[in-house]
Order: sequence, then structure tokens, then C-alpha cells
Amino acid sequence: MIPFNKPYLTGNETKYIEEAVKSGKISGNGIFTKKCQHFFESNYGIKKALLTTSCTDALEMAAILINIKEGDEVIMPSYTFVSTANAFVLRGAKIVFVDSRKDHPNLDESKLEALITPKTKAIVPVHYAGVACEMDTIMALAKKHNLFVIEDAAQAVDSYYTGKDGVKKALGSIGHLAAFSFHETKNIISGEGGLLAINDEQFVDRAEIIWEKGTNRSAFFRGEVDKYGWVDIGSSFLPSEIIAAFLWAQLENLKKIQSVRKSHWENYYSKLSDWATENQIELPKIPSYGTNNAHMFYLVCKSLEQRTALLEYLKKNEILAVFHYISLHKSPFYQVIYNGNELPETDKFTDTLMRLPLYYEVETDFIIKKIAKTWK
Ligand SMILES: *Cc1c(COP(=O)(O)O)cnc(C)c1O
Repeated sequence: MIPFNKPYLTGNETKYIEEAVKSGKISGNGIFTKKCQHFFESNYGIKKALLTTSCTDALEMAAILINIKEGDEVIMPSYTFVSTANAFVLRGAKIVFVDSRKDHPNLDESKLEALITPKTKAIVPVHYAGVACEMDTIMALAKKHNLFVIEDAAQAVDSYYTGKDGVKKALGSIGHLAAFSFHETKNIISGEGGLLAINDEQFVDRAEIIWEKGTNRSAFFRGEVDKYGWVDIGSSFLPSEIIAAFLWAQLENLKKIQSVRKSHWENYYSKLSDWATENQIELPKIPSYGTNNAHMFYLVCKSLEQRTALLEYLKKNEILAVFHYISLHKSPFYQVIYNGNELPETDKFTDTLMRLPLYYEVETDFIIKKIAKTWK
């Protein structure tokens, strides 16, 4: 069976883990953690980066940082992973879902303003498949209504947005805060792992405290205070050096990983184009303001029936393709709470989107040949 995902190892992971272990410092915030954080700050224009144990944790830190309280409203797409919402639900927020765009699972920025109320505190754009949301509009609305923007950049490492001013910015460097994931299903991995990107200076000091269990331990180790103690709420959000060492081996090879993934993506795209048109299937769209980081190759089928048939056919041919999110407003947990609008575009992607295997060592030509033989 061709798997849907297969974690890629660059070869240096165990070597760096051994270095970390031998250094005698295996708790968090050591040399490898700092290397990884610096990588994000220097390559992607992020003001301050903090490694976390997951993207979920980075989102929870963001919710604490913007002081989400009972009754606050947070606007986000429904076609996303549960963590995007859970981080805010845990702090008592009410989630307001905005529909997806017609041409992309990303949120439809033209539908945002109608959902803003005096209780709205934040907008959480999710860069689905690593493709940018329309950030100019989102940031302008946030400014106008005094809201925070937290980018869910879980899938968006090494992807960019070009605004109307022509400046190309890395995803995760635009919102006040952003969260990345290094889960083994993402492009750059550490098993479990994540990163909080802090782009608004006002959050930097407090973020470090929340990250270190609510203590000013980081400032203490820099010699800024002469003893450390409990100064705020917090939790254990920082990963051990063992995880950071693994991640560093991946980041060192980011260019290579990205270029191989992109070649697989482009192979799918060019060789499946005619077949897709013949079968009324849509291939992924990359808007002019965004880039493709080859996180995912998906198909949008013409119906649920067509998708079910295609998934079945591929399974019979030993290829594991999968559908994606069951939109959150229809989830067993949130549908009893949610009393918002219908989200027809979100529902469409829930029913019709499917993903093909995409990982470093995948053999796309084999999969393409099988697919092209369907419904002949
Ligand atoms: C993977 C993912 C997450 C969660 O990441 P973890 O690191 O597993 O916590 C959150 N949001 C989106 C959009 C994701 O794809």
C-alpha cells in the first residue's frame, strides 16, 4: 500500500539528538532550541520565535497572550483542524465561523466584516495547504475594528504573501501572532512540535513568561533579574532539546525538502490537468498574492459520490488517498453550541476535497498512471 504520508529523515536527526544528550542539557531552551528559533527569526522576518511542544500549544499561548475571556468572540474558518478553535474555546471564547472562499478552503475575507461585533477579539486566518489568505484585507479590518490577527500557519512553513504594496512577506510574519506545526504530517517535522511567532513587540516579554510556566526564568538566565519566581499564568509549553535537535536537522535541509516536495506537486499538477478537466475535478488554486509550499496536493471532486468512488478505486489499487476536515460547525462537539449561519462553501469542501499522497519519497508517476485510468 502506498501510504498517505511518510516522515522524511534527513540523516542528521539522531546525530544531533546524541549531541544534545551528551551535552548534559536536555531540558528546553538550550542550544538547539535557540538555533531553530533564530532560523525562523532570520529567514522569515519574525520578531521573536518560541519553540513549543505543538502548534496546538502555540495557539493556546496566543489565546492567553491576547487575554481571551468568557464571551469573547473569535472569527475563524470552519474548514480547519480542531486546535484552531480549541485553543480559544478553552479560554471561554465563542467561535464565529466564516465560510470558505468559492475557489479555496481559505476563509472568504469578503464575508468577515459582517461577522464583527463589539465582542469580537480576534480573527484567526488558516493558511490552508500552505496557501496565503488575503492578508491585506484581514489586517486592514483588524486595524479598523481593533482586533488581533493570529495566523494558523501550521501548514505554511516557507510560504509567502505579497500585498498590494508589492512587498513579499513570509506567512507567520504578518499577524500579531502566528503558530507553526512540526507534526510528522507537515513539511518540516519533529514528531510533535510547534512554534509561536510573535510579531507585535508588546507580547514578547509576556510570551516568554507564559512559555516558562508563568515564571521569569528566561530573564533570570539572561541576568536581567536576580531571582526568578511566579509572575503570571503559564504552562510547560517548551519542548526538550531532544525535540529541538531533531528539528534542527530538518531545518538545515529545508531548501532540499521544499524543492523535492514542489517537484512532486508540479508533476501531479501538470500530468493530472487534462484528466481533471474531463472529469469535472478541480486542481488546487494558488492566488496571485500567494506562493505554493507544496504542503498538500488535493483534488476537489464534483460530488461526494465521485470522491467516494475515487478513494475506493485508489484503495483497491494500493494507494491511500484521504479526505480532510469534517468542518467544525458540523462536528459532534460544536454543532450543539453553534447557532450561526450556513456555510455552503465549507460544506462543499467537506464533501468533495481529497488529498493525494505527498511526501519526500513518494513516486507520483505511479499514482498518476493509476488515476488516469479511472472512468475510461
Ligand atoms: C496540524 C495542524 C494543527 C495542529 O498542529 P499540532 O502541531 O499537531 O498541534 C493546527 N492547525 C492546522 C491548520 C493544522 O494543519
